[in-house]
Amino acid sequence: AAVHNPEIQRQRRALPITSGRDAIIEHIRNEDVVVILGETGSGKTTQVPQYILEGGLAGDAGMIAITQPRRVAATSLADRVANEQEVRLGTQVGYSVRFDEKTSRSTRIKFVTDGMIMRELMSDPLLSKYNVVIVDEAHERTIRTDIFIASLKTIQKQRNHPTDEDGGGKSATKGAGIPPLKVIIMSATMDAEKFSKFFDKASIVYVKGRTHPVEIFHTSQHQADYVEAALKTFYQIHTDRPDGDVLIFLPGQEDIESLADTIRSFAKRLPHTAKQVLVCTMFASQPAAQIEKVFKTTPANTRKCILATNIAETSITIPGVVHVIDTGKHKQKRFLAGDTGGGFDTLLTRDISQSSAMQRTGRAGRESKGYCYRLYTEAAFKDMARSLEPEIARVGLASPMLDLLCLDIELEKLELLDRPDESNVVFALKALLFLGAIDAQKRITPLGRKMASFPLEPSHARAILASKDHACTREVLDIISVLSASSKLFMDITEKRDEIAEARAKFKHSSGDHLTILNVVRSYEQLASETDSAKKKWCRKHFLNEKSLAEAMAIREQLRQVCTRCEVYWKVSIGETVDGDPVLRSLAAALILNAAILQPDGTYKQAMGHAKVKIHPGSLLTDKKAPAIIYDELVYTTQIYARGVSSIPKSDLMQMLAGALKPAPQ
Ligand code: ADP
Ligand code: MG
Repeated sequence: AAVHNPEIQRQRRALPITSGRDAIIEHIRNEDVVVILGETGSGKTTQVPQYILEGGLAGDAGMIAITQPRRVAATSLADRVANEQEVRLGTQVGYSVRFDEKTSRSTRIKFVTDGMIMRELMSDPLLSKYNVVIVDEAHERTIRTDIFIASLKTIQKQRNHPTDEDGGGKSATKGAGIPPLKVIIMSATMDAEKFSKFFDKASIVYVKGRTHPVEIFHTSQHQADYVEAALKTFYQIHTDRPDGDVLIFLPGQEDIESLADTIRSFAKRLPHTAKQVLVCTMFASQPAAQIEKVFKTTPANTRKCILATNIAETSITIPGVVHVIDTGKHKQKRFLAGDTGGGFDTLLTRDISQSSAMQRTGRAGRESKGYCYRLYTEAAFKDMARSLEPEIARVGLASPMLDLLCLDIELEKLELLDRPDESNVVFALKALLFLGAIDAQKRITPLGRKMASFPLEPSHARAILASKDHACTREVLDIISVLSASSKLFMDITEKRDEIAEARAKFKHSSGDHLTILNVVRSYEQLASETDSAKKKWCRKHFLNEKSLAEAMAIREQLRQVCTRCEVYWKVSIGETVDGDPVLRSLAAALILNAAILQPDGTYKQAMGHAKVKIHPGSLLTDKKAPAIIYDELVYTTQIYARGVSSIPKSDLMQMLAGALKPAPQ
């Protein structure tokens, strides 16, 4: 069990939110919905769940769920709150994130990602385990948060007013006998009014923050190369500026890894007498154990330099940070709609919003006076959008719509904070129809239900289900597991493409990247008895990402379990030669929206859309003029590239298209 730590208790009492404790408890006691608005660092996330527990607002044994948009936040905050409660993590205080859970029967406060709580809704549509649900960082407006908030409103009608006409008629009786549900919405920006209005004018409780002053510097000129600019700024800080750790915000993993390398080699050359540099990185797809290093106390005579994406922007506290370098960029998932109904999700590097910039700045003033170096001009800051568009307005909807259909909810009929674009809804319905997840009346099919039980994009789930008919489940699972890993298997270094192609020649399958992946997985599995460092070496030699292979193996095990539940069995293949055709056919059934046909001008045109695409130069497909291809994703740089490409027989594609072109849903 955790030991009594008077210092932590003293810190708790000193938080700005402490003076509002009684008022918060009273509001929650008397009202169904409370919106809490407070500056970052005021103590919302760590304290409010504890107030609810200590104030007896969750009953004697009821549970409190607190949602987070990101898994690092969920796990690190659970750890902190367990410490404050002086219990072991996983007992009274726990967490649940995808592929990892630390809870027990005694858990009362549970930190969950919004994805996990949506999954819980599927098996328990009224969330009957919980007396209180806290939606934290609501201002981030992920699509799941929006849908979850809408669901909470419906659940409250059923649980809190089961006899009302308005409570939903026959469905209202579902809520009878379950204690009422309290909902708390917590946000750090001025969206509070919007949330309050959505919940019929719920009270808003304001919590004043107490942050230390942060001195902000802007550049005098636009910086074309933000990585270079970040490096120079870091050198300056390290040589001239006051002590304290440095946190650098970069858009994505690639930039982080390359800058980390540069700073590490710089650090190696420092004389022993000089202040040393410890480099840590932080991005969503990184193994949890590595991210945890960020939270460790910095050794003496050392400056920690943390390179992070916007996962470090809100929610979490990294002790020791005094300097923040903000490149002003982030990666944003965006659904690019074609002119006539086609579209795709892609990640684009974009300018952040003013509210993100303020959050990033705030990370410097958590413990003492801080400094924020913005690698953009003051005018550029003024030109930024005030806050980010909600995700529901800019990402593909097929997956969330399928999840909702499993709950008998149509996204179009859900009362949402903001409505998605109509063309985006139509595209998602078309995708689900082509995948066989819904019928022409928009009803979910048995196949659709099975697809939803996989924690995957509907198309990937469809590929696995199709593999049953083609007796190649094991092969398809291998490939889909790799595609579901959070980082890419194939490293792509533009200057080294020839060298890479040669190193990978023995895996190369002429049909392209999917069966090449399969060959890689098969070879990797033969190293099962080797040491970790031998595996790493093997991966490096072939320019493969070890992390993504290791992660894929874990994901494959999870998927195999879902397969068993769906009665899709893993065929034990004997012998090493794989027949690729059935595998490609299974993938093609799933990737019909990602199929493209060669045009006379040598480019490809989407079979179901109108985007013109080129094969990505990193692709291993031999025949760059294959008549028909399928691809994993489109990436948009100077033009639209298809990445993860395989050729398929054009006749197969034509047959599938004929089958799919049934009347569209009304
Ligand atoms: P909010 O949600 O309002 O932004 P939090 O409840 O997350 O605030 O954190 C409040 C304060 O608690 C932080 O400013 C910091 O001083 C302290 N704190 C939170 N988590 C940690 C941690 N893991 N380690 C050290 N201090 C922490
Ligand atoms: Mg918080």
